[in-house]
Amino acid sequence: MRAQDLDLRELLDFAPRGGVIRFAGQRAVVFDVVALGLLRGELIATVGVEGARGVLTRFGYAHGWRTAETMKDELPWDSERDWRVAGGRLHQLYGHLVFEPVKGSTEPPPPGAPFAEAVWRESYEAEQHLLLAGRSDEPVCWTLAGFASGYLSYANGRELVCFETRCRGRGDAVCRIEARAKEDWGEERRAALGYYQKGCLNAALERVTSALKRTERKLRTRREELQRAGLDGEDPSGIVAKSEAMRRVLDLARRVAAVDSTALITGESGVGKERLARLIHDESARAARPFVAINCGAVPENLLESELFGHARGSFTGALGDRAGLFEAASGGTLFLDEVGDVPAPMQVKLLRALQEREVRRVGENKSRKIDVRVVAATNRELAADVAAGRFRRDLYYRLRVIELRIPALRERRDDILPLARVILAGCPKDGKRPTGFTPRATQQLLGYDWPGNVRELQNAIERAVALADGTRLDVDDLPEELRASQPPGYTSAAPRSLEDVEREYILSALRSNHGNRTKTAAELQIGPATLFRKLRQYGAMPPRKRKRA
Ligand code: ZN
Repeated sequence: MRAQDLDLRELLDFAPRGGVIRFAGQRAVVFDVVALGLLRGELIATVGVEGARGVLTRFGYAHGWRTAETMKDELPWDSERDWRVAGGRLHQLYGHLVFEPVKGSTEPPPPGAPFAEAVWRESYEAEQHLLLAGRSDEPVCWTLAGFASGYLSYANGRELVCFETRCRGRGDAVCRIEARAKEDWGEERRAALGYYQKGCLNAALERVTSALKRTERKLRTRREELQRAGLDGEDPSGIVAKSEAMRRVLDLARRVAAVDSTALITGESGVGKERLARLIHDESARAARPFVAINCGAVPENLLESELFGHARGSFTGALGDRAGLFEAASGGTLFLDEVGDVPAPMQVKLLRALQEREVRRVGENKSRKIDVRVVAATNRELAADVAAGRFRRDLYYRLRVIELRIPALRERRDDILPLARVILAGCPKDGKRPTGFTPRATQQLLGYDWPGNVRELQNAIERAVALADGTRLDVDDLPEELRASQPPGYTSAAPRSLEDVEREYILSALRSNHGNRTKTAAELQIGPATLFRKLRQYGAMPPRKRKRA
């Protein structure tokens, strides 16, 4: 196939009722050019003509580059050369312009002559520019020139840049375009070459492409792990929430993400407060901006201020240069203040001021800087009690807990223990064979344990067990000592006992813990005192009833 054989009727693939439309196998959309013109107008109004030209040039470049890349294998070209010279024709097929080659590409071009030259008629971009902004002094087909440059650069494996020598947008009858190697453009185009960012674009595109591929690979691996663990279809955040309690927390977190207010996450150590803060960030409008976390309890008191707000050079010993603090580093994004209950009193005032005024002052500076940051704080303390005891400022407390999310302890959501354990197991790195599950005894032990260290403790326990295990399933012996030592409550198949035995033991231990007070014990067990007496007598724990002498 040659470029002139390309036929739109064969390239377009669509259902008569619309939906997904494909152009040569690639998904395409039909766009109204007036809407594109409005976008152009918005860009010019927002970032100025120079900025808009840069963005649109690079947008076109990316499109041209992608077109060359995808069409190479998508269409049955007679030769590689046919594909290389097809850019203009493809451009026309997209409906952007009517393409007329003046001079095909020659390598190397004669001295002073362009690499390729063409006439564009009916440029949609010139049309829109004229409608929107009137006649320009400069050529205006920025996206189109970007497209031609992107296609030619990819197809020829070198940097070729196109500029218009005539343009409908500045009153010429047609647009005329020339392609030259970057270095062959004269001094007068030096500034305009900047719109292509001097070749950084290829590198940027390649970076994006390879980052995308890496992410896809990671996602695929993760999906496979979850499938193996039987947990496919989990919450997209990766947070395990089989329990009703945890599902409610995730649901609230998503609603919090949608608004921009401060939030306070509470819960014991190790329940996953930072993870939840990250979810709030990731699902908020701030997701593309930084997520910055700091453990306020881990930073020495005298450094916390400069850590959060930054400092000026020489403001204290060791301040060798100006430095932005974390509030500035998180600009546009989210700042996560972990262990906020540990912030000392003098800093609490400054933190409150930063939140109220939405500005910070670096240590050693007089001027304030505006900040645009959402703060999510977390604590494992009973902050309300700290407020009551005067250890934490009431105003700061209310400022932080506009919305409060309490993550339940792991023992309060036992339904999550096994699914979590499986996810952690599936994610454990291990040389050679990795255990694929848990023996029933190990499962019982995991479920029966109280997990004072919560998810973090579970994670450590399983990672340690995996490192030590040599079987195909993790067994009780692989688990840490404190877990093995814990008595799972209730029934264990290892040592079955009769109901009567269990009842006796339970009643006697209740009596012991009430120091032999039978009335209290009976009330606690919700049985009548007479019943308790009878049972105790049965167990021989009471002297037999004295027989009246006849
Ligand atoms: Zn033009």
